[in-house]
Amino acid sequence: MNKLLIPALVGAALVCGPLALYAQDWKTITRYEKAPVKEQLTERFLKYVKEDTQSNADTTQVPSTKGQKKLAKQLAKELKKYGVQDVKVNEYSIVTGVIPSNIKKEVASIAFLAHMDTAPEISGKGVTPRVIRQYDGKDIVINADKKLVLNSYTAPLLTKAHGHDLIVASGGTLLGADDKTGLSIIMTMVQYLYDHPEISHGPITIVFTPDEETGAGIEKLDIASLGVDYAYTVDGEDLGELMTENFNARAFTVVFTGNRAVHPGNAQNSAFADNLLMASDFHTLLPRQQRPETTADKRGFIYVDEITNQGDTSTIKGIIRAFSDEEFAALTSTVQNTFNTVKAMNPRAQGASIEFKDEYQNMKNALPPAMLTLTKTAMQAEEITPKEISARGGTDGATLAAAGIPTPDIFAGMYNIHSELEYADVDVMEASFRTLMRLITLWAEQKPVASNTAQ
Ligand SMILES: [Zn+2]
Repeated sequence: MNKLLIPALVGAALVCGPLALYAQDWKTITRYEKAPVKEQLTERFLKYVKEDTQSNADTTQVPSTKGQKKLAKQLAKELKKYGVQDVKVNEYSIVTGVIPSNIKKEVASIAFLAHMDTAPEISGKGVTPRVIRQYDGKDIVINADKKLVLNSYTAPLLTKAHGHDLIVASGGTLLGADDKTGLSIIMTMVQYLYDHPEISHGPITIVFTPDEETGAGIEKLDIASLGVDYAYTVDGEDLGELMTENFNARAFTVVFTGNRAVHPGNAQNSAFADNLLMASDFHTLLPRQQRPETTADKRGFIYVDEITNQGDTSTIKGIIRAFSDEEFAALTSTVQNTFNTVKAMNPRAQGASIEFKDEYQNMKNALPPAMLTLTKTAMQAEEITPKEISARGGTDGATLAAAGIPTPDIFAGMYNIHSELEYADVDVMEASFRTLMRLITLWAEQKPVASNTAQ
């Protein structure tokens, strides 16, 4: 028995009980060779980064920039070329397409997503990429005039990239590895499935989204119409990273109404009430040890991000962020109790109100443990050590998970993202490609959600 098959069986069995005692070894079936796939990944990546798709946070239009429209059309054309069915580019430049199942039994339907836009804060125009073959471990000068150098300080993970093919920018722009690595990996997978119809797979949906960086794109995706059971974003960083968690997020709005129509000289024994003081009391009384700058890793925080005042009304807007439900509830109580205290301290207030609004949830709550096991199994079968990580923020996956599609994030080989020092590691991209291929073959053994009551 191929040693790669053993972990595959363990994971598969956990998902839906006993399976036939085999799993496809896609590499043996197709006589996999790494070099041509690395070449395809490199070529695609170099093509996609030439298109300026910097997103713009100052508009509500989706896509926020023209370059994204152009890339969307280009990607749709490429999907069609490799036999993807039902390829659509909608009015928001969201690209979707389906690779129909090529097996008889009904199995889980999965999707892979990547985003087309690059970070709004740095130019993506005129990106001039440079490929470094078989990196020799020395410092990489990106731009001598601008003193842009990749070394063990500016890129600590470079030490792991010895012998790898790397791609860097040339200064003045980002590279666009976030998330054009993801686009390249998914498209190369699409081509591989087209070139190798002998690989059995269930239905696979491809989604390329605009404006991920501003959070606006995913809002325009008709998630229900995708008809998929499980999904993955291919938008992570280092080898083996599997992002399975994000914050639970809740916003709050506190309004204090005072009465400052009285001359301050006559305020005593009058109806005078100072809403400005109430607002600052509230802000000051929130715990210092649960602020953004005093918390890290798995600890959550409370943050007031706006205090505005109009006459007798002061409005405080803030956010609550936590991974665990327990801490999330505790922090919410802290905000409520602080409000109650300030209200009690100010009996003359003309009004005091608090409102909470849920924003997004930790996707971990919606992630079936069996999916996690299967995903780790896919990596292990490709001799990659999975490393579970948590995002101290929200993700497109969180939006999908909230809509009922569990969507963890898989590494794509991008580093130093959103900066002139951004680089892509083609060998890590190739490992991500293999992870996707292995996922496809493992999911081809799984029942669809509707019939999978064991979960
Ligand atoms: Zn990204």
